[in-house]
Amino acid sequence: MGFLAALDRGPTARAALEAMTGAPAQVLARAPGRVNLIGEHTDYNGGAVLPVALPHATWAAASERRDGRVRVRSLQSDTDRAVELPSVAACGPGLSPTWAGYAVGVLWTLARAGVPVPGLDLVVDSTVPLGAGLSSSAALECAVGAAVLGVLGRPVAGADADLLVTAAVAAEQEVVGAPTGGMDQAVAVHGRAGHAVHLDFATGAAAARRLVPLPLHERGLALLVTDTGVAHALADGGPDAEPVGYAARRADCEEAARLLGVPTLREAAPDAVAALPEGRPRRRARHVVSETARVAAFVTALERDDRRELGRLLADSHASLRDDMEVSCPELDLAVAAATGAGALGARMTGGGFGGSTVALVEERSLGQVAAAVDEAFEREGLAAPRHLVVEASDGASWSPV
Ligand code: ADP
Ligand code: MG
Repeated sequence: MGFLAALDRGPTARAALEAMTGAPAQVLARAPGRVNLIGEHTDYNGGAVLPVALPHATWAAASERRDGRVRVRSLQSDTDRAVELPSVAACGPGLSPTWAGYAVGVLWTLARAGVPVPGLDLVVDSTVPLGAGLSSSAALECAVGAAVLGVLGRPVAGADADLLVTAAVAAEQEVVGAPTGGMDQAVAVHGRAGHAVHLDFATGAAAARRLVPLPLHERGLALLVTDTGVAHALADGGPDAEPVGYAARRADCEEAARLLGVPTLREAAPDAVAALPEGRPRRRARHVVSETARVAAFVTALERDDRRELGRLLADSHASLRDDMEVSCPELDLAVAAATGAGALGARMTGGGFGGSTVALVEERSLGQVAAAVDEAFEREGLAAPRHLVVEASDGASWSPV
């Protein structure tokens, strides 16, 4: 059984940058991945989410170039070759390979927003598992964006922090062309040690933000995140296939809101949902309405240190995502069942679904036993060993001079 260590990859990113340029690095930036505690498929329905910034993060070492060019290397990229671009203006849509869009798209969106982004040499290194539903993409965008602010001597705070969130979201949507709701970038920037971040999307994409104390260690509790290793595919199966993906879930929710005559499912009344004919729109609406209530109940249960209630809410969230939203998969169900069977207070799939990771609330003293039970269950089913992360809430994006 392995716990994925939250090592500081600042030194490796810095050393690789200095090897690439032959000169000292200028700044070192960091932005965390995230795990969503509860509130799944609620963001695009005007609901709330409750993510936590991981201790696992992406580091970006950077130095300014005088010739305006951009060069970026990732220690996670399998080719190990730097991507070179003639200018910041060339960091827009259509970048290849795809990872480069995540890495330098934010240079282009920051420049578009009026930031005087200079040419840069960049090297990134990360401990966030890629494509595991733990938001390595936002960690990468926000680490690089924070490095840009660092080179300009602008702290990640106030209006510049909000600008960084907006630019990172725009990079993922417009440069990479991936659907992203905005939760990941908000927590990568605004996460805080010892806190979850409550984001309420009632007012649209610019979510109202509130820090919620998350005293886990103080209460003898821990969060165990398990990466099942099943790649989450957010795409659909094709025009004639049964809708299976994230876009199809969004369309179902819009259809349900239209049937109910409300702008978003957040405004839907539970009895109006219950009165819909049985079918996909009703199931999707039932998930969104019940999940929105669970986020509020979870915050209250945290305040009261009601751990049985916290566990029940996680279990109910998983059942709702599995049965009503239909976004779970056998490996996620297995990890949740094994964790709960081995004494976790509660567990659920986290992220958009169709693979990715689970999150379990466990007593600190049973962390090893719960992780071992999940490993055994995977081995029994002939599945590759999952990866476990022990999560303490960490701080959002920042940079420091080297
Ligand atoms: P998630 O954000 O849940 O990890 P995504 O599919 O949104 O999954 O983003 C994963 C993609 O982001 C990777 O396939 C890769 O293109 C890019 N990426 C993230 N972190 C890095 C990194 N450190 N180096 C290179 N590419 C990365
Ligand atoms: Mg992502």
